[in-house]
Amino acid sequence: MSDSKGGGMKRDFMQATDKNPSCIMPEKLTLDSPLKFECHPGVSCFTACCHNITIVLTPYDILTLRRRLNLSAHEFITQYTEPIYLEKTDMPGVQLKLTGEKQGCPFVTQEGCTVYADRPTACRYYPVGMADFHGAGQEGGEEKFFFLVKEPHCKGFDELKQWTIREWRADQGVDVRDEMNKEWLRLVMRRKSFSLQASLSESAQRMFFMATTDLDHFRRFVFESSFLQTYEIDPEIVERIRHDDEALMHFSFKYLANTLFGAEGMSINKEKIKEKVKVMQQEQEKNLRQIEEEYKQLKAEREAQRQKAEARKQS
Ligand code: SF4
Ligand code: SF4
Repeated sequence: MSDSKGGGMKRDFMQATDKNPSCIMPEKLTLDSPLKFECHPGVSCFTACCHNITIVLTPYDILTLRRRLNLSAHEFITQYTEPIYLEKTDMPGVQLKLTGEKQGCPFVTQEGCTVYADRPTACRYYPVGMADFHGAGQEGGEEKFFFLVKEPHCKGFDELKQWTIREWRADQGVDVRDEMNKEWLRLVMRRKSFSLQASLSESAQRMFFMATTDLDHFRRFVFESSFLQTYEIDPEIVERIRHDDEALMHFSFKYLANTLFGAEGMSINKEKIKEKVKVMQQEQEKNLRQIEEEYKQLKAEREAQRQKAEARKQS
């Protein structure tokens, strides 16, 4: 069950710098920088780092893990995760729920990681962190560099295996994950850059949570509500997202960027806009008629009161 490289990640790839900045080596690395490191069942610290740890799950992590476990998104979320807010924002997400006295990852055994081939992104990153300022929500001027996170208990640095950062990342499957996660991460970072001054409405938070943690639910939302009548979506895309989870996941990021931040890429059906304008006009007219009616009534009441007072004076 366990892979020969077992152990895995030992920090939250979204929060490591907040958690333990002293473990970060103060050197900017490139893809060609050397790395001496190996993690395998022979290291004395094997699986130590799969305990007492925060593993935030990305939407793609959830998709690959629940596929591996043959669970629906809802089953996976309720069984293996707990809710959190992402990166100190008001955007809801999930992290792995630790278990037992030792507060271990639910997938760790003495032999290693039981979901190794599908382990979360966070588990693939250690010990090479990446800073990506483009991903942090700044348009243009992308700056990407790498750094080492060297935790004292990790004996992987005493091993002799040599890599370049590029080779290490390819071996860990990080590049693929980065590609799958980047639009989601951009949404979170964009939200973070707004700070909490204008908080997300509860319905926006619910939508974000549903779309990023439960693709089954999001698919029902797309295909079983008035969604497809409301938005103009290329029929080819509609067919793709009907069955293809990865395509649906990318589509959900686009939809969220549009609804939460007004990003381009989704257009509302013109007929729907006309319908909406018509309904708003009708509402406005109804309100105006009501106000007029109330004004007339008030006027009539005043007149009746005036006439009564006049009659009393004359009698
Ligand atoms: S998923 Fe695997 S590698 Fe990651 S913390 Fe759990 S046991 Fe360790
Ligand atoms: S070598 Fe490092 S990454 Fe591997 S199990 Fe030990 S602490 Fe974890």
